[in-house]
Amino acid sequence: MSTVIAHLDIDAFYASVELLRRPELRGRPVIVSGSGPRAVVTTASYEARKFGVGSAMPTARALRLCPEAILIPPDFPAYREASAAVMGLVRGTVEEVEVMGLDEAYLDLTGLLSPRASMRRLIRQIKETTGLTASVGVGPNKLVAKVASDAEKPAGFVVLTREQACARFAGHPPRLVPGIGAKTAERLEQLGITTIAQLGAADPDVLAGAFGPRQGPWLSARGRFHGSATVEPVREAVSESRETTFDVDVADHAELEEHLHRLAEQLCRGLQKHERAGRTIAIKVRLDDWTTVTRARTIAHPTNEVEHVGQVARELLREYAPPRPVRLIGVRVASFGGTEQPTIETAQLALPM
Ligand SMILES: [Mg+2]
Repeated sequence: MSTVIAHLDIDAFYASVELLRRPELRGRPVIVSGSGPRAVVTTASYEARKFGVGSAMPTARALRLCPEAILIPPDFPAYREASAAVMGLVRGTVEEVEVMGLDEAYLDLTGLLSPRASMRRLIRQIKETTGLTASVGVGPNKLVAKVASDAEKPAGFVVLTREQACARFAGHPPRLVPGIGAKTAERLEQLGITTIAQLGAADPDVLAGAFGPRQGPWLSARGRFHGSATVEPVREAVSESRETTFDVDVADHAELEEHLHRLAEQLCRGLQKHERAGRTIAIKVRLDDWTTVTRARTIAHPTNEVEHVGQVARELLREYAPPRPVRLIGVRVASFGGTEQPTIETAQLALPM
């Protein structure tokens, strides 16, 4: 029995959730973003994308590209609620689900009698239940599925074998492959590799020589659309965090402590509401040169009290004593339940906040 993997991705997720409750904005360019001078676009509606607006772009630049865009501040509780509804339907269709974010997941369709019909039905259910549109890609592994789901957005439905993926995306830049970023693309270009076909055909020894014994073969395989076909169910979130980016860098440590305390208050309010508590308290500090530092401490008993969380966070900040002005600060509580082994702290630190 051959493996069949689907990647499901909600189209313009945050913007779509906003449009559902503000139908009067349909058809107009909408950008979900904070409003400070350093805000970045989290999601743009497809109308805004026509102007060249994209995710992670500074909002100021997005507004220059599309001055008539309507700015909506993000409402994460609403997105989490919509996400839970979508993932509930996904889990009702398939047993093995690897959730990759609020709006995307890999599904193992292996063994389903009719994977395509099942996916069509799921897309319809999601639309009827939540009003959201999903794009789906289906293939023999996660890489093919992911690239296929992205190929015809919005409301895409693309099924490809590995060979078909190689042919269809032969002329696309290597950056189409998740995990190949700007830096890697630039180095590939220096080797004369500017398309996926060239990447797949490149001498593996040359790639290994340029990128090392791990990344070289990885790149070579990606160029031929080989990839993992293992869908690994992800446990429920084991950490919660709040962070803030300052409009102007903050150098004053007392002021930083105040911000940290306020974030701890917000975080604890959320934890208490969901009756969760954790033992590992962490801070994240991004300096004005983009150095990002995480400091964590695990305490004896789970807590969601702002006195505990705020105090440990402040102590961690004092111990670190940021050597430069601070651009972003955050606080996090992890290891819910209090039964995890001590190694969880190290594991957590490997995750982005
Ligand atoms: Mg999406």
